[in-house]
Amino acid sequence: MSGKPPADGKTAERRPLRLLMVEDDPNDEALVLRHLRQNGYDVTHLRVDTGPAMRTALGQPWDLVLSDFSMPTFSATAALAVLKEVEIDIPFIIVSGTISEENAVDSMRAGAQDFLPKDKLARLVPAIERELREAAIRGERRKMQERLFVSDRMVSMGTLAAGVAHEINNPLAALVANLDLVALSLAALSKPNVVGPAAATARPAVPEALESRLREIEEPLSDAREAADRVRQIVRDVRVFSRVEGSERRAVDVRRILDSSVRIAWNEIRNRARVTKSYGEVPAVLGNESRLGQVFLNLIVNAAQAIAEGNPAGNEIEITTARAGDGRVVVDVRDTGSGIPAALRGKIFDAFFTTKPEGVGTGLGLSICHRLITEMGGAISVDSEEGKGSRFRVTLQAAGLEAPIHTPPLVPMGAARRGRILVVDDEAILGAVVRRMLGTQHEVSTLTSAREAAERIGGGERYDVIFTDLVMPDMTGMDLHADLARRAPDQAERMVFMSGGAFSARSRDFLSQVPNPRISKPFDAGTLAALVHNLIR
Ligand code: ADP
Repeated sequence: MSGKPPADGKTAERRPLRLLMVEDDPNDEALVLRHLRQNGYDVTHLRVDTGPAMRTALGQPWDLVLSDFSMPTFSATAALAVLKEVEIDIPFIIVSGTISEENAVDSMRAGAQDFLPKDKLARLVPAIERELREAAIRGERRKMQERLFVSDRMVSMGTLAAGVAHEINNPLAALVANLDLVALSLAALSKPNVVGPAAATARPAVPEALESRLREIEEPLSDAREAADRVRQIVRDVRVFSRVEGSERRAVDVRRILDSSVRIAWNEIRNRARVTKSYGEVPAVLGNESRLGQVFLNLIVNAAQAIAEGNPAGNEIEITTARAGDGRVVVDVRDTGSGIPAALRGKIFDAFFTTKPEGVGTGLGLSICHRLITEMGGAISVDSEEGKGSRFRVTLQAAGLEAPIHTPPLVPMGAARRGRILVVDDEAILGAVVRRMLGTQHEVSTLTSAREAAERIGGGERYDVIFTDLVMPDMTGMDLHADLARRAPDQAERMVFMSGGAFSARSRDFLSQVPNPRISKPFDAGTLAALVHNLIR
């Protein structure tokens, strides 16, 4: 080691510096190296004095280029051109003998950060320090831009997913409802009602052979219904997580959202850990479903990513819900993963802080969780032990009585009278399915155009219940409501809005202003029948 200790006598750490020198004179090379080493740098260097040699050298990483101004077969300007060509951002400082002011200005214009005369080497170290700092800032900014780009792309993916989920919803509604109907007809066929006073007029018993064929159909049919239910669950989950806008708060059950989050994250979890749910009885919290979903999903994915793949039986992600002493709701996501070193614990909620490789982490997750939870009036904290695991805790306000949980209508008791029902949906299959579901008990008409519905009602037709889609080409369900509110207010009150869940700002506004019932697609026969029953009664 040739370096002398710093002036204050303490032995400081030597700073590593990977230096590419563009220089033809070995004496000058030695001079600069000696100066840097004396000033505490641990220099790894390479000297080049031609374009091709420089291009090859740039295959390796460098912190800094120091370049002579002119050499017999190369120059600082040519070296700057090479740097530009390979598109690498490395600070470039010219160290040269005499150089005219004009040349100095030209080379700065070409991209050199600084120019130093050889006989004023004292200025070199401060210049290097400054340039390294600035290069680090530029690098950090580039990284941030890349990550913002990634998160931007995630938002677009979310919008796309919401759109796809919405598109799947209508055919799915028809699928679920038709399967229900087939199952009901099948049950009626194989178990004819032959008891009670009606026995004399009941259908004759089903022949044995037919009955066994009917039973054979039952199982695949119930499998199909179960599969359709799974698709319905997936569509619902996607909708919860892809809603990018909207912040309205209502009473939500955190356990349902946690279940959705685990399902969505399952691919990340399956090879790493088993999931234990310890759900204590908790009241509903006042929050936004999709935002809470985003928070829990992020905590669960982080928990999974903290656990190495390959030993799912030996690792655990435990999700707990409990009621705190003060009535608030506490959700814990605990993992048996890597834990967080004490020195990093204060940084993990910072935007862009990540320890994950590019493409896996953006460092935005926890900072967004923190913001969303604080905005909801809650809190988020972490407890972690390196090598053992972490526990993230979210504390939320209970919703209280002013916001009851939205529950589906009760199954009807007692019979309702036969009603007149109109279904307006541009998807004809939806009208058809509602007719099949309700047609035996009620008189059901279907239309695919709201305009035609307006004409009929304007012409004097009256209905007990008018099911209408919200968004349709030509005239929307909202326009139909406005029209009826003017011309036949009793009929506007009879409207029930069917929605696929992906609301535009306009639909959301509209729904928050009208008291009419709404039903989300896909619906099952029971919910629909119960709703009609209650409305007609
Ligand atoms: P990202 O997951 O994109 O890195 P986050 O903001 O969600 O961004 O997390 C920031 C960092 O916090 C992670 O890179 C990781 O180092 C640390 N971290 C978060 N959750 C856990 C956990 N459950 N176990 C260990 N480290 C974690």
